[in-house]
Amino acid sequence: MKATLAPPSSLISLPRHKVSSLRSPSLLLQSQRLSSALMTTTATRGSVAVTAAATSSAEALREGIAEFYNETSGLWEEIWGDHMHHGFYDPDSSVQLSDSGHREAQIRMIEESLRFAGVTEEEKKIKRVVDVGCGIGGSSRYIASKFGAECIGITLSPVQAKRANDLAAAQSLSHKVSFQVADALDQPFEDGIFDLVWSMESGEHMPDKAKFVKELVRVTAPGGRIIIVTWCHRNLSQGEEALQPWEQNLLDRICKTFYLPAWCSTSDYVELLQSLSLQDIKCADWSENVAPFWPAVIRTALTWKGLVSLLRSGMKSIKGALTMPLMIEGYKKGVIKFGIIACQKPL
Ligand code: SAH
Repeated sequence: MKATLAPPSSLISLPRHKVSSLRSPSLLLQSQRLSSALMTTTATRGSVAVTAAATSSAEALREGIAEFYNETSGLWEEIWGDHMHHGFYDPDSSVQLSDSGHREAQIRMIEESLRFAGVTEEEKKIKRVVDVGCGIGGSSRYIASKFGAECIGITLSPVQAKRANDLAAAQSLSHKVSFQVADALDQPFEDGIFDLVWSMESGEHMPDKAKFVKELVRVTAPGGRIIIVTWCHRNLSQGEEALQPWEQNLLDRICKTFYLPAWCSTSDYVELLQSLSLQDIKCADWSENVAPFWPAVIRTALTWKGLVSLLRSGMKSIKGALTMPLMIEGYKKGVIKFGIIACQKPL
């Protein structure tokens, strides 16, 4: 995949690194579930055929994600602006916020995440940032401006990368911030160069969570911080091997529309980070803080402007809108958790 614009000088892309795969027991389970969901090949056809099927399934997922965001990002930006993620609200806030209230909540999500990870106190150390799954670059521009840092964002969607670069240019930030099309599972960066590795609501799209985490850790500088804010399923209780069938069914219906592979829990992420000897590993469940978000998105979709834009935007957006109530149901029933996981790479 090609970069759409030259990144800031010190963040020039370098040859890809080979990443061997890592599996913790529970992630192996996730991966097996994913494989069975994605692979059409039976074991009797031999390992070459199975590998080929896995590769083409992963490629199909990447293409689906790229097309989904190519088609839907313009609509989202028109209605919700350049942050394509949940807002952070006070629990039980029953007020129906204005547009600016929701934007503030999205900015608050970034601020709360930085604070949770301990980055706010280390502000001066943050010189280079990678925004993994950057959307149209809302987080990158905000973080680059806040810290005076250089930031590079990667996305699978060429439409998003272009729009993100255009917005950076319009805000006179091109010398600090740039965006390119690249795969989070095979990042075009040298080892150990980023002081902050930021993944805001992109982890749920990653078909191999172990490889995803390993890649995040690889590009982090010694002493650097990693922040993953992502949709998870609930943690399994002791002795439980899988979600209940009705829970899995609910997630499967969401996966289809939003181009998601199998989900994992926050504990799975923590286990993965522990297996890689990361430090200061913390996680939290912010589901209560994001509860007002999807109802608000649905309300905007049901306005005249929302409906007209939705119809213009196409089938993927319409299907997305129809799936939103399932997200609310998932949160209400405790199957879906909005998780933050943060850690530091040892010096
Ligand atoms: N973080 C952004 C966008 C979230 S939407 C924001 O908060 O505004 C999810 C993003 O993840 C999209 O930009 C999508 O292209 C990206 N993404 C999903 N899978 C990816 C992958 N394998 N590699 C790179 N980006 C990916």
